[in-house]
Amino acid sequence: MAAHPEAPTAANALAALPSMLGLDDIERRWRRVLGEVRLADEQIAALLSLDPLAVVRGLREANAPIFDSPATTTVRGLVARLGPAMALRLLEVGPISSSGTSRLRAFWRHAIATAIAAADLARSTGLIDPEFAQVLGLLHDLPAWLAEIAARAPANASTVAAHERIQTWNLPPALLEPLRGFWREHPTAVGAPTGTTELIAAAERLAELADHGHPTDEGGRELGDEPPPSVSALLAAHRLRRKVEGALRSFGLDPSIPETEIEDLAPLRHGWSQRRSDIASVMLAIYGCSKSESYRGIVTALTAAALRYGNYDRAFFARFHPGSGRVVLRSKADATSRRLRGMTILASPEERDRLRAALEAEAPVLLTRQPADPLLSALAADELLAVPLNREFAIPGFLLLDRAPTLRRPDSEADIALAATLGMTGSLLIENLLLRRRRQRAQSSALTDPLTRLHNRRLGLVQLEQEIARARRSTRPLTVLMCDLDHFKQLNDRLGHLQGDFALRETAKVLRDTVRKGDTVCRYGGEEFLIVLPETNPEDALVLATRLFTNVHARGIEVGLPISISVGLTAYRPGDCAEAMLARADKALYASKGSGRNGFSADIEPAGSEPDLLLLPPTLPT
Ligand code: GH3
Ligand code: MG
Ligand code: MG
Repeated sequence: MAAHPEAPTAANALAALPSMLGLDDIERRWRRVLGEVRLADEQIAALLSLDPLAVVRGLREANAPIFDSPATTTVRGLVARLGPAMALRLLEVGPISSSGTSRLRAFWRHAIATAIAAADLARSTGLIDPEFAQVLGLLHDLPAWLAEIAARAPANASTVAAHERIQTWNLPPALLEPLRGFWREHPTAVGAPTGTTELIAAAERLAELADHGHPTDEGGRELGDEPPPSVSALLAAHRLRRKVEGALRSFGLDPSIPETEIEDLAPLRHGWSQRRSDIASVMLAIYGCSKSESYRGIVTALTAAALRYGNYDRAFFARFHPGSGRVVLRSKADATSRRLRGMTILASPEERDRLRAALEAEAPVLLTRQPADPLLSALAADELLAVPLNREFAIPGFLLLDRAPTLRRPDSEADIALAATLGMTGSLLIENLLLRRRRQRAQSSALTDPLTRLHNRRLGLVQLEQEIARARRSTRPLTVLMCDLDHFKQLNDRLGHLQGDFALRETAKVLRDTVRKGDTVCRYGGEEFLIVLPETNPEDALVLATRLFTNVHARGIEVGLPISISVGLTAYRPGDCAEAMLARADKALYASKGSGRNGFSADIEPAGSEPDLLLLPPTLPT
């Protein structure tokens, strides 16, 4: 599929911004100085400030619309937003060969010098925030950079003009506005700057004076046309030259060090790409860390594995509605703690077609960005590998894998193999989870009474048998209550079955809320409830029974219905079986009915004796 993992795609030619510091010899220099030292955020910001194109990529990434955060327009803000790991990754890009890069280098020095001068001017004039001015200085030549890069890969040159391309990058308007002004007007700097545009122009002019001129100015703009620089300007230019040298030297970029002294630090380079692992360990990792009982756990394991083993910078999980073309972003994994904004994106017809093709083929596809593609725009990515999950679902899922910060293509052969593994493993885990959930639901609905949501008779009897078996083995007591609604037929006849059903549900609620956690309440028959009370002696059960019928009666008054129950109580006796206990409870219940209802009777005497009527409540008005 991919010719070369590092080669930018045709449509992506202008977006393939190299890292200036990624050029081989420059990279060797700075890495030699820094070695494996852990950089502080301040240092990372300083290093990034020497790499305008990496800053552009970082800004695109940091200001992606899917993230819920205010715009960042400074390098420090960028490092804070992306975190040190991602910020450093911006420097890992080097898709442009080192040969014949002297012009690029001239651009580079010009950009850095202008940035430093702009920050200084901002500080001395108070016109704008110096850190913001620094970024403007770094980016002031962006269209020229892009033209230069496109010229290096003519076969890939895009027909889209550089400034139009920049338009689609989601750079904050606060940043683009002044730059656009600068690109439009190309002001020549004379005297003190009075606005942002003039400030950048003045900084650029200072950079020229400091021998870091714009490379296209050679022979172009006639310096002689301009008034000769003032003494103070010359002094400022001298200071600037020293500052630029100092900034470069602090990272070993001082060109006065002979090339021969620089050892090859290849092993340090692209440390990330060595993390790739074999498929088996990827699958094991997903199985191992996916909380297979939660959907979220599976998705987290998948995105984490994409980052860890696939070397991706960001991994998103989205649901795709094939009919409407809506993509709902659900979660992301990257090196930052930025929050993902819950976002629904209407994919373009091309994006939809690609996603549908991925579902059809059950294989990852590469999404390549056209300027206005909504999905890729929202993610601030030029290329995404879209990995389908559960294609047979009505709303299938997608893993969207991205390497925007480092611009390495996301679809090398190894990438496709890994992505297919993630897709298959994820689909299976999710499907398995849904099947298990469905089974659990079916099981529980077979044992639940639909009207009251209580256990049904079948489950109630199983639980009673279990408790009897336990009581048999131990000396722990066990009591059982049988409850029946009083004159329920009358209630139904007078008020209708709907009210009757309501009364049943209210009664069920009261019973459930009154018993303890380990007790079970089941709907034993039409308006009969069985309550099993393990480890409860008859005395405590009597107290509970009283509470039950008084609570039910009270609830009846609350809801304006004549509801009451009669209760029959019995306790386990050695040798008892379920039938015997139920028969005694029933008998006790009918004793309560006989003595006026809304009360309880208990049969807790030795076998054979008549039930005791322990409490006779007042007869209810019906
Ligand atoms: P007693 O106090 O002696 O228990 O009188 P009763 O009217 O409650 O007893 P009976 O057994 O004669 O009537 C029970 C009634 O419960 C009959 C039946 O219509 C009603 N019933 C059973 N299940 C449901 C149900 O799911 N919904 C409704 N609304 N009524 C039910
Ligand atoms: Mg009844
Ligand atoms: Mg009955």
